[in-house]
Order: sequence, then structure tokens, then C-alpha cells
Amino acid sequence: MTNSAAGIHWAGPAILQKRLENTYLIGIPLAGSILAAVWIANHGITLIDVSAFAIFYALTGLGVALGMHRYFTHKSFEAVLPLRLVLGASATMCFQGTILRWVADHRRHHSHSDQQGDVHSPHVDPWGRDVKGLGGLWYAHVGWMFDGTATDLEVFGKDLQQDRLVMFFVRTHWLWLAASLGLPFAYGYALGGAEAAWSAMLIGGCLRISVLHNVVWAVNSIGHSHGDEDFPQANRSKNNLVLALLTFGDGWHNNHHRFPRSAFHGLKPGEIDVNGWIIATLERAGLVWDVVRVPQQRVAAARSPVGGQ
Ligand SMILES: [Zn+2]
Ligand SMILES: [Zn+2]
Repeated sequence: MTNSAAGIHWAGPAILQKRLENTYLIGIPLAGSILAAVWIANHGITLIDVSAFAIFYALTGLGVALGMHRYFTHKSFEAVLPLRLVLGASATMCFQGTILRWVADHRRHHSHSDQQGDVHSPHVDPWGRDVKGLGGLWYAHVGWMFDGTATDLEVFGKDLQQDRLVMFFVRTHWLWLAASLGLPFAYGYALGGAEAAWSAMLIGGCLRISVLHNVVWAVNSIGHSHGDEDFPQANRSKNNLVLALLTFGDGWHNNHHRFPRSAFHGLKPGEIDVNGWIIATLERAGLVWDVVRVPQQRVAAARSPVGGQ
């Protein structure tokens, strides 16, 4: 057991802060999800509830995948200011921490993937100890958010701390968490009055956030343990169709680890990548540019046994 991996706090106030943040980020929607289940059992579910869930799942799901992941972490494209504002708002509404913390954690994951120092591997903890089976899956899914390490924002988020737009969303974090619950409430109220508003907030707000939590966490747990490895690598990332459908394309995680900056995670026909289609459409509309593409020859060379790594 060693604390030598770079960019990590192994002790100090950052760890308590991380645990507290994750407690409310998970606890608030989880408590609301339990109320949602009770509500559904007693009142059933309406079209307003289902549509609120779908609309806000799509908005925040794209916020995570297109915003947190492909834009703020990997800079796979550049975007006009109004779109950057939408990406920042929808990303922050996902109840997964500030853009600064999400991006820093994810960059640390890429720099230590399935090795000592990784944030959330189902195979090894940050101290380099093996984690296995269901215990490993649990650690990569949820356990890591309460462990005794915290990502050093000075190492993995230095550039973002100079980014005024990112820091605006960091400073106004609570506002966007409130919006993530308040907008489904307003949607329900507009379509059905007070009772529909509460119902839409529980189902399209709290339950939707908890479901999306588990989908994103599954990329860390299932996405590093179950699926195909098209590109042999030093990490254990997998391509997983179900995860790709639930995340709008980020489940092609083995592809992504091989070409982290590619704006497109689906790299062959049949690898459905809604996020990639959206980026290509926005590019044609002139709203995004500098879209990172990996030439087909490089993809083909990486697939061959000699080009794997
Ligand atoms: Zn990964
Ligand atoms: Zn990534």
C-alpha cells in the first residue's frame, strides 16, 4: 500500500469535503426517489410524469456526456458562447458535483486507469490494493465517492480555474441544483396544476437524477468489467451496447480510452453514438468547430494486434 500516485490528496480537509458533497448530491435525490416510489404506488403515474422524466433525463444526460465529458474534460470540440452556457448549466444540473470536480476526477481516471491512483476502478483501489468481484463493482460504482482520497484540483483542474465560464457555474452550483428540481416542478404545474407539479418534481426531478446517477456510475463499474475490448490496452475498459444506449454513446468506453479526445465514441457502423451525431449536426450548423476526429487509418492500425497500444 503506497500513496505515491500524483495528483491525489491522501489526507486533509479535501476528503471530508468530498464525502459531505457526495452525501447531499446522492442523498437529496435518493430521498426524493423513495417518495416518488410511494407516490407512484398510491397515485399511479401520468403522461406528465413520464414526459418530465424523459425530457430532463435527456437534458442532463446530454449535460454529462456532451458537457462534462466531451467538452469540459476532453475539449473534443469548441462551441459558441450560448451553447457553452447550455452545456455548463445542463452539466451542473446532473447532481454530480461541480464541473471543476467532475472534470478533475475524470482526468485522474484517464491518467491512472485501472492502476494505483485511479478514482474508480473495479479492479484496484487508489492505494494499489486489488478489489474484486461484487466488492470491486460496488467500489467503482459508489464506494469511491466516500473513500479516503480526493483529486487535487490544482493538478487536474488548473486550466478550469482560469476559465471564467466554468468558475461561474462552480460559484452558482446550488442554483443549478435547484433548477434541476424546480424546472420539472414548473413543467408539471404548467400542464396540470399543483399536484402534477409535485409529482413531476419527484419523478422527473429526483427519480430521474438517481437513475442517471446509476447510469453514469455504471460506466465506471460495468464499463470497466463487462463488454468487449476492441482495442487492447493497459486498462480494462469495455465497449457495452446497453451502456451506450443509456448514455447516448459514452458506453463505447474501450474506444474512448483508446482515443480520449475523439468527439466520436462510436468508431464503426452499428456503434450508436447520439452524442457524436449531435456534435456533427451542431458543426454543420456552425455552432461548434475544431471537432476532434481520428483518421480511419489510425483506427484501423490500432485494431491490428501490433497497433494495439
Ligand atoms: Zn474509464
Ligand atoms: Zn473520458
